Amino acid sequence: MLKLHGSAISHDATLMQRGLFIVTKKSELPRTIKSKYALLLDNYLNYEEGYGAYISFSEVKISNIKNYFYLPKEMDYLGEGDIIRIEPSGRINSLFRINSSHNTILLTEQCNHYCLMCSQPPKNIDDSWLMDDAMALLDLIPRETRNIGFSGGEPTLYGDHFIDLINKTKLILPNTTVDVLSNGRAFSDSIFTSKFAAINHFDCVLGIPIYSDDPARHDYVVQSKGAFDETILGILNLKKYQQKVEIRIVIHKQTIDRLVQTCEFIASNLLFVDHVALMGLEMMGFTRANLDQLWIDPFEYKDILSEAVDVLTCYGINTSVYNHQLCVINDDVLPNYKKSISDWKNEYVDQCDSCLKKSECGGFFSSSKMYRYSDHIKAII
Ligand code: SF4
Repeated sequence: MLKLHGSAISHDATLMQRGLFIVTKKSELPRTIKSKYALLLDNYLNYEEGYGAYISFSEVKISNIKNYFYLPKEMDYLGEGDIIRIEPSGRINSLFRINSSHNTILLTEQCNHYCLMCSQPPKNIDDSWLMDDAMALLDLIPRETRNIGFSGGEPTLYGDHFIDLINKTKLILPNTTVDVLSNGRAFSDSIFTSKFAAINHFDCVLGIPIYSDDPARHDYVVQSKGAFDETILGILNLKKYQQKVEIRIVIHKQTIDRLVQTCEFIASNLLFVDHVALMGLEMMGFTRANLDQLWIDPFEYKDILSEAVDVLTCYGINTSVYNHQLCVINDDVLPNYKKSISDWKNEYVDQCDSCLKKSECGGFFSSSKMYRYSDHIKAII
Protein backbone atom coordinates (compact mmCIF):
# COMPACT_ATOMS: atom_id res chain seq x y z
CA MET A 1 0.00 0.00 0.00
CA LEU A 2 1.33 3.39 -0.95
CA LYS A 3 1.30 6.00 1.81
CA LEU A 4 -0.42 9.02 0.32
CA HIS A 5 0.41 11.21 3.29
CA GLY A 6 3.13 11.44 5.86
CA SER A 7 5.24 13.81 7.88
CA ALA A 8 8.70 15.02 7.02
CA ILE A 9 11.40 13.46 9.17
CA SER A 10 12.93 16.90 9.43
CA HIS A 11 12.28 20.18 7.75
CA ASP A 12 13.42 23.74 7.58
CA ALA A 13 10.33 25.62 6.51
CA THR A 14 9.75 29.27 5.95
CA LEU A 15 6.44 28.48 4.29
CA MET A 16 3.81 30.68 5.88
CA GLN A 17 0.94 28.55 4.65
CA ARG A 18 0.32 25.22 2.97
CA GLY A 19 1.21 25.07 -0.70
CA LEU A 20 0.74 22.77 -3.69
CA PHE A 21 3.84 21.89 -5.68
CA ILE A 22 4.72 19.83 -8.73
CA VAL A 23 7.60 17.46 -8.00
CA THR A 24 10.56 17.82 -10.35
CA LYS A 25 14.20 16.83 -10.59
CA LYS A 26 14.85 19.52 -13.18
CA SER A 27 17.06 22.19 -11.72
CA GLU A 28 16.98 24.53 -14.67
CA LEU A 29 13.33 25.44 -14.97
CA PRO A 30 12.53 29.03 -16.01
CA ARG A 31 12.72 31.44 -13.08
CA THR A 32 9.10 32.53 -13.54
CA ILE A 33 7.63 29.07 -12.84
CA LYS A 34 10.11 27.66 -10.31
CA SER A 35 7.98 28.65 -7.33
CA LYS A 36 5.30 26.14 -8.39
CA TYR A 37 7.75 23.25 -8.10
CA ALA A 38 9.28 21.16 -5.33
CA LEU A 39 12.80 20.27 -6.43
CA LEU A 40 13.64 16.64 -5.64
CA LEU A 41 17.22 16.92 -4.48
CA ASP A 42 19.83 14.46 -5.61
CA ASN A 43 21.98 15.09 -2.57
CA TYR A 44 23.09 18.68 -3.21
CA LEU A 45 24.10 18.13 -6.83
CA ASN A 46 21.04 19.62 -8.50
CA TYR A 47 20.31 22.39 -5.99
CA GLU A 48 19.23 25.69 -7.54
CA GLU A 49 17.68 28.67 -5.83
CA GLY A 50 14.14 29.85 -6.37
CA TYR A 51 12.05 26.68 -6.06
CA GLY A 52 8.89 26.70 -3.97
CA ALA A 53 10.17 23.81 -1.87
CA TYR A 54 12.94 21.21 -1.77
CA ILE A 55 12.39 17.54 -0.95
CA SER A 56 14.59 14.48 -0.60
CA PHE A 57 14.34 10.87 0.60
CA SER A 58 17.80 10.78 2.12
CA GLU A 59 18.99 13.57 4.30
CA VAL A 60 20.82 16.41 2.57
CA LYS A 61 23.36 17.56 5.12
CA ILE A 62 23.98 21.04 3.75
CA SER A 63 22.21 23.60 5.92
CA ASN A 64 20.49 26.82 4.88
CA ILE A 65 18.22 25.28 2.26
CA LYS A 66 14.98 27.04 3.00
CA ASN A 67 11.73 25.09 2.67
CA TYR A 68 13.60 21.82 2.71
CA PHE A 69 11.66 18.66 3.64
CA TYR A 70 13.35 15.34 4.27
CA LEU A 71 10.59 12.81 3.52
CA PRO A 72 10.08 9.29 4.83
CA LYS A 73 11.21 6.40 2.61
CA GLU A 74 7.58 5.21 2.16
CA MET A 75 6.95 8.26 -0.02
CA ASP A 76 9.87 7.68 -2.36
CA TYR A 77 7.43 6.69 -5.10
CA LEU A 78 6.97 10.44 -5.67
CA GLY A 79 8.53 11.47 -8.94
CA GLU A 80 8.55 13.87 -11.83
CA GLY A 81 5.15 15.47 -12.39
CA ASP A 82 3.44 14.25 -9.21
CA ILE A 83 1.69 16.94 -7.21
CA ILE A 84 2.00 17.28 -3.45
CA ARG A 85 0.62 19.47 -0.72
CA ILE A 86 3.15 20.67 1.85
CA GLU A 87 2.12 22.20 5.14
CA PRO A 88 4.45 24.36 7.24
CA SER A 89 4.22 21.66 9.94
CA GLY A 90 5.99 19.24 7.60
CA ARG A 91 2.90 17.23 6.72
CA ILE A 92 2.92 16.07 3.10
CA ASN A 93 0.00 14.79 1.02
CA SER A 94 0.32 13.16 -2.38
CA LEU A 95 -2.59 14.69 -4.33
CA PHE A 96 -1.93 13.58 -7.90
CA ARG A 97 0.30 10.83 -9.25
CA ILE A 98 1.04 11.32 -12.89
CA ASN A 99 1.41 7.60 -13.69
CA SER A 100 -1.74 6.55 -11.86
CA SER A 101 -5.18 6.15 -13.38
CA HIS A 102 -6.71 6.36 -9.89
CA ASN A 103 -6.40 10.00 -8.89
CA THR A 104 -9.31 10.90 -6.63
CA ILE A 105 -9.46 14.28 -4.95
CA LEU A 106 -11.08 14.52 -1.53
CA LEU A 107 -13.30 17.62 -1.45
CA THR A 108 -14.76 17.42 2.05
CA GLU A 109 -15.20 15.14 5.04
CA GLN A 110 -18.64 16.56 5.73
CA CYS A 111 -21.67 14.49 4.79
CA ASN A 112 -25.44 14.35 5.30
CA HIS A 113 -25.23 10.55 5.49
CA TYR A 114 -23.67 8.45 8.20
CA CYS A 115 -23.35 5.13 6.34
CA LEU A 116 -22.73 1.98 8.36
CA MET A 117 -19.76 1.14 6.12
CA CYS A 118 -18.46 4.65 5.40
CA SER A 119 -14.78 4.47 4.51
CA GLN A 120 -14.30 8.19 5.18
CA PRO A 121 -16.27 8.88 8.38
CA PRO A 122 -17.91 12.33 8.33
CA LYS A 123 -16.50 15.17 10.39
CA ASN A 124 -18.52 18.23 11.22
CA ILE A 125 -15.72 20.70 10.65
CA ASP A 126 -15.06 23.55 8.27
CA ASP A 127 -12.80 21.90 5.73
CA SER A 128 -13.60 24.19 2.82
CA TRP A 129 -9.86 24.62 2.36
CA LEU A 130 -9.99 21.20 0.67
CA MET A 131 -12.16 22.74 -2.04
CA ASP A 132 -9.72 25.69 -2.34
CA ASP A 133 -6.89 23.19 -2.81
CA ALA A 134 -8.88 21.22 -5.40
CA MET A 135 -9.44 24.41 -7.37
CA ALA A 136 -5.73 25.22 -7.20
CA LEU A 137 -4.79 21.65 -8.06
CA LEU A 138 -6.68 21.85 -11.36
CA ASP A 139 -4.22 24.53 -12.51
CA LEU A 140 -1.32 22.10 -12.00
CA ILE A 141 -2.73 18.85 -13.42
CA PRO A 142 -1.44 18.02 -16.94
CA ARG A 143 -3.96 18.67 -19.70
CA GLU A 144 -3.54 15.17 -21.13
CA THR A 145 -4.82 13.53 -17.91
CA ARG A 146 -7.40 10.91 -18.86
CA ASN A 147 -9.51 10.80 -15.71
CA ILE A 148 -9.89 12.33 -12.28
CA GLY A 149 -12.32 11.62 -9.48
CA PHE A 150 -13.88 13.83 -6.83
CA SER A 151 -15.08 12.34 -3.58
CA GLY A 152 -16.09 13.17 -0.02
CA GLY A 153 -17.91 13.23 2.32
CA GLU A 154 -20.59 14.65 0.10
CA PRO A 155 -19.15 16.97 -2.58
CA THR A 156 -22.51 18.52 -3.48
CA LEU A 157 -22.83 20.06 0.01
CA TYR A 158 -20.77 22.88 -1.53
CA GLY A 159 -23.79 23.81 -3.67
CA ASP A 160 -22.82 26.31 -6.37
CA HIS A 161 -19.15 26.01 -5.43
CA PHE A 162 -19.32 22.36 -6.55
CA ILE A 163 -20.81 23.52 -9.86
CA ASP A 164 -17.91 25.99 -10.17
CA LEU A 165 -15.44 23.15 -9.61
CA ILE A 166 -16.88 20.96 -12.37
CA ASN A 167 -17.04 24.00 -14.64
CA LYS A 168 -13.39 24.80 -14.01
CA THR A 169 -12.47 21.13 -14.55
CA LYS A 170 -14.14 21.25 -17.95
CA LEU A 171 -12.35 24.46 -18.90
CA ILE A 172 -8.88 23.50 -17.66
CA LEU A 173 -8.99 19.79 -18.54
CA PRO A 174 -11.28 19.62 -21.57
CA ASN A 175 -10.34 16.04 -22.48
CA THR A 176 -10.40 14.56 -18.98
CA THR A 177 -13.26 12.30 -17.90
CA VAL A 178 -14.58 12.95 -14.41
CA ASP A 179 -16.09 10.65 -11.78
CA VAL A 180 -17.95 12.17 -8.83
CA LEU A 181 -19.02 10.11 -5.82
CA SER A 182 -22.23 11.57 -4.43
CA ASN A 183 -25.28 10.38 -2.53
CA GLY A 184 -27.32 12.13 -5.21
CA ARG A 185 -29.69 13.91 -2.84
CA ALA A 186 -28.72 17.42 -3.95
CA PHE A 187 -29.97 16.59 -7.43
CA SER A 188 -33.52 16.22 -6.11
CA ASP A 189 -33.43 20.00 -6.51
CA SER A 190 -34.24 20.63 -10.17
CA ILE A 191 -32.58 24.05 -10.18
CA PHE A 192 -29.30 22.60 -8.88
CA THR A 193 -29.50 19.78 -11.44
CA SER A 194 -30.18 22.21 -14.27
CA LYS A 195 -27.09 24.24 -13.28
CA PHE A 196 -25.01 21.07 -13.24
CA ALA A 197 -26.37 19.98 -16.62
CA ALA A 198 -25.68 23.43 -18.07
CA ILE A 199 -21.95 22.80 -17.64
CA ASN A 200 -22.41 20.33 -20.47
CA HIS A 201 -19.38 18.26 -19.51
CA PHE A 202 -18.60 15.69 -22.18
CA ASP A 203 -18.10 12.82 -19.69
CA CYS A 204 -18.85 13.45 -16.01
CA VAL A 205 -20.33 10.42 -14.24
CA LEU A 206 -22.19 10.70 -10.94
CA GLY A 207 -21.60 7.53 -8.90
CA ILE A 208 -24.64 7.26 -6.62
CA PRO A 209 -25.36 4.45 -4.14
CA ILE A 210 -28.68 2.67 -3.76
CA TYR A 211 -28.50 0.02 -1.08
CA SER A 212 -31.97 -1.48 -1.32
CA ASP A 213 -35.28 -1.35 -3.14
CA ASP A 214 -36.81 -1.02 0.33
CA PRO A 215 -36.65 2.67 1.31
CA ALA A 216 -36.45 1.86 5.02
CA ARG A 217 -33.49 -0.47 4.48
CA HIS A 218 -31.62 2.07 2.33
CA ASP A 219 -32.27 4.80 4.90
CA TYR A 220 -31.04 2.49 7.66
CA VAL A 221 -27.78 1.70 5.80
CA VAL A 222 -27.09 5.42 5.23
CA GLN A 223 -28.50 6.36 8.66
CA SER A 224 -30.66 9.15 7.28
CA LYS A 225 -34.46 9.17 7.09
CA GLY A 226 -35.87 10.22 3.73
CA ALA A 227 -32.59 9.59 1.93
CA PHE A 228 -33.99 6.98 -0.47
CA ASP A 229 -36.74 9.24 -1.84
CA GLU A 230 -34.35 12.16 -2.41
CA THR A 231 -31.71 9.95 -4.01
CA ILE A 232 -34.19 8.37 -6.44
CA LEU A 233 -35.58 11.81 -7.31
CA GLY A 234 -32.00 13.02 -7.80
CA ILE A 235 -31.27 10.20 -10.24
CA LEU A 236 -34.51 10.86 -12.14
CA ASN A 237 -33.64 14.57 -12.40
CA LEU A 238 -30.12 13.82 -13.60
CA LYS A 239 -31.40 11.53 -16.32
CA LYS A 240 -34.09 14.07 -17.26
CA TYR A 241 -31.18 16.39 -17.99
CA GLN A 242 -29.30 13.58 -19.77
CA GLN A 243 -26.48 13.39 -17.24
CA LYS A 244 -24.46 10.21 -16.71
CA VAL A 245 -25.34 8.14 -13.65
CA GLU A 246 -23.70 5.04 -12.22
CA ILE A 247 -25.58 3.25 -9.45
CA ARG A 248 -23.30 1.71 -6.84
CA ILE A 249 -24.43 -1.10 -4.54
CA VAL A 250 -22.04 -2.14 -1.80
CA ILE A 251 -22.71 -5.78 -0.90
CA HIS A 252 -22.78 -6.70 2.77
CA LYS A 253 -25.01 -8.36 5.37
CA GLN A 254 -27.49 -5.47 5.31
CA THR A 255 -27.88 -5.39 1.53
CA ILE A 256 -27.43 -9.00 0.43
CA ASP A 257 -30.95 -10.20 1.34
CA ARG A 258 -32.57 -7.85 -1.16
CA LEU A 259 -29.76 -7.57 -3.69
CA VAL A 260 -31.71 -9.35 -6.44
CA GLN A 261 -34.88 -7.35 -5.70
CA THR A 262 -32.82 -4.14 -5.71
CA CYS A 263 -31.50 -5.03 -9.17
CA GLU A 264 -35.07 -5.81 -10.31
CA PHE A 265 -36.13 -2.40 -8.96
CA ILE A 266 -33.35 -0.72 -10.95
CA ALA A 267 -34.28 -2.66 -14.07
CA SER A 268 -37.96 -1.72 -13.68
CA ASN A 269 -37.61 1.92 -12.66
CA LEU A 270 -34.13 3.15 -13.56
CA LEU A 271 -33.41 1.21 -16.72
CA PHE A 272 -31.90 4.34 -18.28
CA VAL A 273 -28.92 4.60 -15.89
CA ASP A 274 -25.54 4.29 -17.57
CA HIS A 275 -23.91 1.69 -15.34
CA VAL A 276 -24.50 -0.39 -12.23
CA ALA A 277 -21.54 -1.43 -10.06
CA LEU A 278 -21.93 -4.30 -7.59
CA MET A 279 -19.16 -3.72 -5.09
CA GLY A 280 -17.35 -5.69 -2.41
CA LEU A 281 -16.83 -4.19 1.02
CA GLU A 282 -13.77 -2.12 1.94
CA MET A 283 -12.51 -2.57 5.51
CA MET A 284 -12.06 1.11 6.25
CA GLY A 285 -13.63 3.65 8.57
CA PHE A 286 -16.97 2.60 10.07
CA THR A 287 -16.84 -0.84 8.43
CA ARG A 288 -14.35 -2.01 11.02
CA ALA A 289 -16.49 -0.74 13.89
CA ASN A 290 -19.65 -2.33 12.41
CA LEU A 291 -18.01 -5.49 11.12
CA ASP A 292 -20.42 -7.91 12.83
CA GLN A 293 -23.35 -6.12 11.22
CA LEU A 294 -21.72 -6.01 7.80
CA TRP A 295 -19.38 -8.88 7.09
CA ILE A 296 -20.51 -11.75 4.93
CA ASP A 297 -18.03 -13.95 3.12
CA PRO A 298 -18.30 -13.30 -0.65
CA PHE A 299 -18.11 -17.06 -1.20
CA GLU A 300 -21.42 -17.40 0.66
CA TYR A 301 -23.24 -14.93 -1.59
CA LYS A 302 -21.71 -15.91 -4.93
CA ASP A 303 -24.95 -17.44 -6.24
CA ILE A 304 -26.92 -14.33 -5.26
CA LEU A 305 -24.29 -12.19 -7.03
CA SER A 306 -24.70 -14.32 -10.15
CA GLU A 307 -28.46 -13.86 -10.03
CA ALA A 308 -28.14 -10.09 -9.52
CA VAL A 309 -25.79 -9.77 -12.50
CA ASP A 310 -28.16 -11.92 -14.56
CA VAL A 311 -31.15 -9.68 -13.76
CA LEU A 312 -29.28 -6.50 -14.74
CA THR A 313 -27.65 -7.85 -17.88
CA CYS A 314 -30.89 -9.47 -19.08
CA TYR A 315 -32.37 -5.99 -19.10
CA GLY A 316 -29.37 -4.72 -21.06
CA ILE A 317 -27.94 -2.67 -18.19
CA ASN A 318 -24.20 -2.08 -18.33
CA THR A 319 -23.08 -3.95 -15.18
CA SER A 320 -19.75 -4.41 -13.39
CA VAL A 321 -18.63 -6.42 -10.40
CA TYR A 322 -15.99 -4.52 -8.43
CA ASN A 323 -13.75 -5.35 -5.47
CA HIS A 324 -14.05 -9.13 -5.63
CA GLN A 325 -11.55 -11.97 -6.02
CA LEU A 326 -11.83 -14.37 -8.94
CA CYS A 327 -11.70 -17.47 -6.75
CA VAL A 328 -14.87 -16.55 -4.84
CA ILE A 329 -17.21 -15.72 -7.73
CA ASN A 330 -19.00 -17.95 -10.22
CA ASP A 331 -17.78 -18.14 -13.79
CA ASP A 332 -21.01 -16.63 -15.13
CA VAL A 333 -19.99 -13.33 -13.53
CA LEU A 334 -16.66 -13.17 -15.38
CA PRO A 335 -17.88 -11.09 -18.35
CA ASN A 336 -18.79 -8.35 -15.86
CA TYR A 337 -15.78 -8.69 -13.58
CA LYS A 338 -13.45 -5.67 -13.31
CA LYS A 339 -10.12 -5.12 -11.61
CA SER A 340 -11.23 -2.07 -9.73
CA ILE A 341 -9.21 -1.50 -6.58
CA SER A 342 -7.09 1.65 -6.78
CA ASP A 343 -3.43 0.86 -7.36
CA TRP A 344 -2.22 2.50 -4.16
CA LYS A 345 -4.33 0.22 -1.92
CA ASN A 346 -4.33 -3.01 -3.94
CA GLU A 347 -2.61 -6.12 -2.57
CA TYR A 348 -2.60 -9.91 -2.80
CA VAL A 349 -2.28 -12.65 -0.19
CA ASP A 350 0.12 -15.61 -0.02
CA GLN A 351 -2.31 -17.99 -1.77
CA CYS A 352 -2.15 -15.73 -4.83
CA ASP A 353 1.54 -16.45 -5.46
CA SER A 354 0.77 -19.75 -7.20
CA CYS A 355 -2.47 -18.62 -8.83
CA LEU A 356 -2.61 -18.74 -12.62
CA LYS A 357 -5.24 -16.00 -12.68
CA LYS A 358 -3.38 -13.47 -10.55
CA SER A 359 -2.84 -11.02 -13.39
CA GLU A 360 -6.58 -11.02 -14.15
CA CYS A 361 -7.70 -10.94 -10.53
CA GLY A 362 -8.47 -7.64 -8.77
CA GLY A 363 -7.02 -8.88 -5.50
CA PHE A 364 -7.72 -7.21 -2.19
CA PHE A 365 -7.92 -3.85 -0.52
CA SER A 366 -4.91 -3.45 1.76
CA SER A 367 -7.42 -3.00 4.57
CA SER A 368 -9.07 -6.38 3.80
CA LYS A 369 -5.73 -8.08 3.93
CA MET A 370 -5.18 -6.55 7.33
CA TYR A 371 -8.64 -7.11 8.83
CA ARG A 372 -10.90 -9.59 7.04
CA TYR A 373 -11.20 -11.45 3.79
CA SER A 374 -12.87 -14.59 2.51
CA ASP A 375 -12.04 -17.94 4.12
CA HIS A 376 -12.25 -19.47 0.64
CA ILE A 377 -9.32 -17.84 -1.13
CA LYS A 378 -7.66 -20.57 -3.16
CA ALA A 379 -5.15 -20.40 -6.00
CA ILE A 380 -6.66 -21.21 -9.38
CA ILE A 381 -4.37 -23.80 -10.99
S1 SF4 B 1 -5.91 -16.89 -5.27
FE1 SF4 B 1 -5.55 -14.69 -5.21
S2 SF4 B 1 -5.06 -14.11 -7.32
FE2 SF4 B 1 -6.03 -16.13 -7.38
S3 SF4 B 1 -8.16 -15.70 -7.72
FE3 SF4 B 1 -7.90 -15.90 -5.51
S4 SF4 B 1 -7.55 -13.83 -4.79
FE4 SF4 B 1 -7.25 -13.81 -7.00
